[in-house]
Amino acid sequence: MIATKEAGLAALVEKYPEVPKSIILKLDLQRRGIAFTEATAEATNDPYYRGPEQTAFSAKDPSRRPLPGPMILRDGTTVISSPVQGQFADPYTIDFVDGRFFVIDRGEIIDEVDFSPRPEFYGKLTSRGVPMESIAWSRPQRLDIYPYRYCHYWDTRDQCKFCAFFTDLKQQKQLAGASYARVVHPEDIYETVREALKEPGRYSQINLTAGTDYSGEVPFEKEVDRYIEVLQAIGRNFKTRRFPSQLIAPAYTKRQVKRLYDETGLSSYCPDIEVWDKELFRWICSGKEKWFGRDYWIQSAIDAVEIFGKGNVYTNFVAGVEFSKPHGFTSIEQALDSNFEACEFFARNGVIYLSLVWVPWKGTGLGGQQQPPLEYYVRLIKGLVEIRRHYGLASDNDDFKHCGNHGDSDLERLN
Ligand code: SF4
Repeated sequence: MIATKEAGLAALVEKYPEVPKSIILKLDLQRRGIAFTEATAEATNDPYYRGPEQTAFSAKDPSRRPLPGPMILRDGTTVISSPVQGQFADPYTIDFVDGRFFVIDRGEIIDEVDFSPRPEFYGKLTSRGVPMESIAWSRPQRLDIYPYRYCHYWDTRDQCKFCAFFTDLKQQKQLAGASYARVVHPEDIYETVREALKEPGRYSQINLTAGTDYSGEVPFEKEVDRYIEVLQAIGRNFKTRRFPSQLIAPAYTKRQVKRLYDETGLSSYCPDIEVWDKELFRWICSGKEKWFGRDYWIQSAIDAVEIFGKGNVYTNFVAGVEFSKPHGFTSIEQALDSNFEACEFFARNGVIYLSLVWVPWKGTGLGGQQQPPLEYYVRLIKGLVEIRRHYGLASDNDDFKHCGNHGDSDLERLN
C-alpha cells in the first residue's frame, strides 16, 4: 500500500511553506484532473479563449466544443490538464462566476484562475490549405509541433504503458479526411511558425515531439532526417543560427545527435527515460527496451551533453508511474530514493531529470490505477530541485517561461 491517509492541499501548503501554494495546487490539478461547469465550458468558448477545433490528436468534430489552452494561476504558473469526462474520479471543478474563473474543491473556492488566450494563428490555413491549428498547439508561451503522428511501438504492442498518444488514429483519419496526414509537411510547419511569431512577445519556445519511427538503414535515421528537415524549415523564420527550441525524441546515436545540432538551429534535446528503475523500465517501456534498452537511452543523453552542452540536455520521467501495479514500488521512500538516485546520476553528467505528473488515462495499459498521494509529488519536486542546485544546473530551456509542465522546474524560480 502506498498511502493510508492523504494530506490535502491546505495541510501541505502549511507543512511545506518553502513550496508556493500555486505549485502544490498545480501538481494536484494535474494529478486529480479537472472538470468544467457548463458556465466554464460556455465562457471558454468565447473568441478570446476558444481552443483549436482540430489538433494533431483530434479531428474537427462539430458535436464537441473545442477545449481552451492551459490554465494560468495568479502567479503565472501554468497548468496543462484537460477536462475529459469520465477520466477522473475526484477532479477539481473549474467554475465561471461573475466573469471570473475559480478552482473549486468540494464547494470551497481554492483560487482564481484564467486560461491561456487563443493565439492569433488558430483559424488560419497554410498555403496548402491545412488548418494551422492542426499543425501547432499553443501554450501560453510555447508552440508544440508533432511532425509525425504515429508511434511504431504500437505496431508490436510495445507502446509505453502510460501513453495516451495516438490511441484514436482511425477516428482521426475518418473525421479529418483529406487534411489528415501521418507526416506533416515541413512547409506547413514553416508557415504556421511564421504566422505564430507575428503575435508580439508571445512565444519563447518551440517544441517538437512525435511518435517513434525506428525505421531506416541505421535505426531511427528516417526520423532524424525528418526532424532535420522540419527544424531547418522552422529555422528559416529566425535570423540567428540557434533558436529557442527543444526536441523530445528517442535516444539517438552520438552521430545522429551531432547531425541534429550541426545541421539545424535546435537548442536542446530531450530523450525521455520515463521511469528510472531498471525492471520497471523494461516492463513499462517495452518499445524503448527493444530499441535499444535502458543503458542505450542513458548513454545517449550523456553523450548529447558533449554536443549541446551542460544543462541543455533533458530527460523526462512520468512521476508516479513507478507505483504501477503489479510490479511497481509499494513505498513512497523507495520511489523517492529511486528518482533522487536518477536525478543525481544525470545531474553529475550534466543532464536535467524532470518530472511530469502521471495521469492514468483510461485506455492506456495502466488506465485507472491509483496515483501516489500529493505529498509524494511535493517531496519529489523539492528533492529534485535541491539536487540540481547542488550541481549548478537550472532548467533554463524547460522552465515556466519555456514549458510550464513540470512542478520541479516551476520551483526553480525560487533559486
Ligand atoms: S514513445 Fe512511448 S510515450 Fe512516446 S508516443 Fe510512443 S508509446 Fe507514447
